[in-house]
Amino acid sequence: MLIILADLVDAMLVQARRDHPLETCGVIAGAAGSNQPMRLIPMRNAAQSPEAFRFDAAEQFQVWKDMDARGEEPLVLYHSHTGSPAYPSRDDVACAAEPHAHYVIVSTDAACERPVRSFRIVDGRVVEETIKPVERYASPAAQAVPSHNLIKELS
Ligand SMILES: [Zn+2]
Repeated sequence: MLIILADLVDAMLVQARRDHPLETCGVIAGAAGSNQPMRLIPMRNAAQSPEAFRFDAAEQFQVWKDMDARGEEPLVLYHSHTGSPAYPSRDDVACAAEPHAHYVIVSTDAACERPVRSFRIVDGRVVEETIKPVERYASPAAQAVPSHNLIKELS
């Protein structure tokens, strides 16, 4: 199950709609070992495509380096689908390199009944998990509330 701040879910949707019809992508970092996604980092889709996404290699290097320096992990890896359901494509599965991450897909297809879904992808196997949006995390590990400003930036 992915327990995640509702604001972060909203921020992914806002970003996906902003970049539509191109796919969007990004990462949500959280303290290592916490399983509490906190810091949403929108990233550039280097593929600039409505049917695929690819992190920009230099940006990815910097973002991962920043997470390391802050003691964070990439807890959520997200991207959008703009004309297909929110389910991992063959390429998404082939490229999934983080067995501990939650792979979130946001669909901006108006016909899509479940626009935000989360998956674990391990060794080419896809397992969907429930998303539970929360106003705040139960444990006191996460006091900061970083997401409001971000939603404004993206709007
Ligand atoms: Zn995809």
